Amino acid sequence: MLLYNSATRKKEEFKPYTEGKVNMYTCGPTVYHFAHIGNLRTYIMEDVLEKYLRYIGYDVNRVMNITDVGHLSSDADTGEDKMLKGAKREHKTVMEIAKFYTDAFFSDCQKLNIKKPDVIEPATNCISDFIKMIQGLLDKGYAYVAGGNVYFDTSKLENYYVFNNFDAEDLAVGVRDSVSEDENKRNKTDFVLWFTKSKFEDQELKWDSPWGVGYPGWHIECSAISIKYNGEHLDIHCGGIDNAFPHHTNEIAQSESYLGHHWCNYWFHVLHLNTSNGKMSKSKGEFLTVSLLEEKGYDLAAYRMFCLQSHYRKAQEFSYEALDNTAAVYSKLISRIALLKEDGAVDKETADKYKKQFSDALGNDLNTSLAITCIYDVLKADANDSTKLYLLNDFDKVLSLDLISKAEEYRNSQNAVSESDEDKEIDELVARRTQARKDKNWAEADKIRDELAARGITVTDTPDGAKWHR
Ligand code: AMP
Ligand code: ZN
Repeated sequence: MLLYNSATRKKEEFKPYTEGKVNMYTCGPTVYHFAHIGNLRTYIMEDVLEKYLRYIGYDVNRVMNITDVGHLSSDADTGEDKMLKGAKREHKTVMEIAKFYTDAFFSDCQKLNIKKPDVIEPATNCISDFIKMIQGLLDKGYAYVAGGNVYFDTSKLENYYVFNNFDAEDLAVGVRDSVSEDENKRNKTDFVLWFTKSKFEDQELKWDSPWGVGYPGWHIECSAISIKYNGEHLDIHCGGIDNAFPHHTNEIAQSESYLGHHWCNYWFHVLHLNTSNGKMSKSKGEFLTVSLLEEKGYDLAAYRMFCLQSHYRKAQEFSYEALDNTAAVYSKLISRIALLKEDGAVDKETADKYKKQFSDALGNDLNTSLAITCIYDVLKADANDSTKLYLLNDFDKVLSLDLISKAEEYRNSQNAVSESDEDKEIDELVARRTQARKDKNWAEADKIRDELAARGITVTDTPDGAKWHR
């Protein structure tokens, strides 16, 4: 597989550390609010990557954290604590908020056919792992204590800006929101590993540590959780593009300093879903959630298809008009698949040809829109229906667009419509027969009964009138 690597800025042949096995890490959600559909675009693309790796035979171990502590409103460790902000907004405790929005996140994922990672770990479960890693960094001289907090010293590194070729607009997202400079930092790019002197007096979640009671910084969570469940060598690290700096840059800094060797080989960054006004937001403008799309009557598989129609390394603009177009394309596709009926054996040679085409599309840096084109190529193919159904089912292991089940639903609903139309016709015929009998027009009554019999309908005369059944 060819995969674009943000760290080298090149498409590279993907080779995991261990043959046949892939260790994958995904930055999980900060559970202070619902995910917006932009967040979910990132998770959909990561889901396709994971499923494709499994499709081509890899054994994947995918780990995701849940950020339930330490993420401030600026990714550069300033501003309000996001979890605390959520708790205040809803007059609940931080842990209640975390539970509610973690459940909501996985419910959204399920609706969008996003598979659950193999390991899901809330940051609050791993405090001792963070402390161990921070202590390791202090022991090796990569960290210092100032003003009560523990900081990572970025000046100790030869190469800190791994992703600095990115568009400044994309990278600055976290830092731009910065409200104040932290005077304890020795260097502007230093970042907090452990907050002890919290400026948030009402901080709910605090733990004992060698540096006093406090809580971890956001970046240390992902490094420590990845190392805990994926080991010292990580194949692929995923996240939205805003995570590249400072979050992932800091993860590399602290992981490699702690481990003493190179850590992660491939960085997979998904570009943002934007609105016509720019950045998608949870507080400004319309808060675009999965439930909102459901309320508006959208089939969520159509939203998934909307995401797959554009490449993960291109920013995508959301509009209802664009989603409407995809929804129409999706229903038309389903109605075409619904016409297919099992009709014999699968033609293996043809199937292999189309499977290769599909796999080559995704194997070229996850070209999802080309993979969708393969669906149409199969529908047009000179092959029997069984082969087509086999291929669509096979592709859907990766695309997860419910192609077969939605087609079946569609067929059943069409049958139900035609059956209810037929019911009305039969009711009318039976009523006409009853009238003919009342009028003693036996010839007409017999004619109608024969017509009904020819359609497989039996009429029985009861004291309550004529009844019919198929
Ligand atoms: P958060 O819950 O804010 O930590 O973000 C969860 C994931 O969504 C991260 O991987 C972010 O990089 C990603 N993300 C944030 N905003 C967007 C967006 N507008 N489009 C796509 N992904 C995003
Ligand atoms: Zn992370």
